[in-house]
Amino acid sequence: MLNIVLFGPPGAGKGTQSERLIDKYNLVHLSTGDIFRYNIKNGTELGNMAKSFIDKGELVPDEVTISMLQSEVEKNEGAKGFIFDGFPRTTDQAEALDMFLSSRNTAVTAMLALEVPEEELVTRLLERGKTSGRKDDADETVIRNRIKVYENETAILQNYFEQQNKYHGIDGVGDIDEITNRLCSVIDSL
Ligand code: ADP
Repeated sequence: MLNIVLFGPPGAGKGTQSERLIDKYNLVHLSTGDIFRYNIKNGTELGNMAKSFIDKGELVPDEVTISMLQSEVEKNEGAKGFIFDGFPRTTDQAEALDMFLSSRNTAVTAMLALEVPEEELVTRLLERGKTSGRKDDADETVIRNRIKVYENETAILQNYFEQQNKYHGIDGVGDIDEITNRLCSVIDSL
């Protein structure tokens, strides 16, 4: 299986690039943010629980996120591989993912990290907020909090995957097609 963790701060372009990569490599896209938003829209118990965290730009508790992610993987028996977008975001999530995939006789193939400077992220997210309808994109304080949470809790996962020789940093600034090409050349070299 080809299991890619697409990594990077909020607004780095993970969703945009995932859409392109799933077509090219025939993978299933699992975006924890999208799954939470779907649940919020449909007023599920999970959605109602997650909403209070998401609206403030905080992480949804690990326990909830991990079990949700596992059940999404299980819904896709027979997949050739996955793109994990927005997961893992904490060390506990990364360890849970490793254990879960190894129980299924597979593993994370690589972490591809989109690198984008903070001011560019804020500009992109405020721009997206004009049309996305996402409350967490409309408010600069919430945006900056998401970036802070990323730096405090998530960025450390670079070390986690570097230790496994699975980390690949990719310049996330520039033309969308060009960034896709950068990602593909790493994937093709795996
Ligand atoms: P972003 O554009 O900030 O990367 P996402 O769409 O991936 O946003 O996620 C939106 C929100 O959903 C996050 O700010 C967080 O509250 C919640 N969320 C998404 N993935 C996770 C996760 N792996 N662990 C905890 N919370 C998550």
